[in-house]
Amino acid sequence: MHEFSSLLAKTFRELDIQLFQGRLADVRVEFSERMTSAAGRYFSRRKLIRLSAPYLRLHGWEKCRTTLIHEMIHAYLDVQGKPCGHTPEFRRLLKMLTGETSIYHREDMSPYARRSRHLYECPNGHRMYRKNRIRRTVSCGICARKFDPRYLIRYVGRVEETS
Ligand SMILES: [Zn+2]
Ligand SMILES: [Zn+2]
Repeated sequence: MHEFSSLLAKTFRELDIQLFQGRLADVRVEFSERMTSAAGRYFSRRKLIRLSAPYLRLHGWEKCRTTLIHEMIHAYLDVQGKPCGHTPEFRRLLKMLTGETSIYHREDMSPYARRSRHLYECPNGHRMYRKNRIRRTVSCGICARKFDPRYLIRYVGRVEETS
């Protein structure tokens, strides 16, 4: 990641001069390994842009650069004391600078938006999924209406699902 961190810093300074009149001099930028829910985020109080390292690995530098510009627009509005959400001005700048009209990057993170579930199976092969591990001893609700030790469900394992 180190090579990309310096590329990021360099690109950020260049874009600041080219597109934002150098007004983002006080804004910092960094990669985060833990950011998996979004491609990037701007933290107004800390004047910090954080980009997702998993997103970079998944989609490559070009898309990451577009995300960087997206976040820089948030920062640009913020340092001028303007509302820095996805306002009409934000959308206008985004379209102008990136050609993008979509403000959401979330769907691009879908391979990371996995939830894991726990799979259980009864002796007759009925399968059931649970968000959490079941702590009690449970019998299959299809095979028996009340608890029946003949139909105990057994834990198969954790399965990934894409949400
Ligand atoms: Zn945004
Ligand atoms: Zn069953």
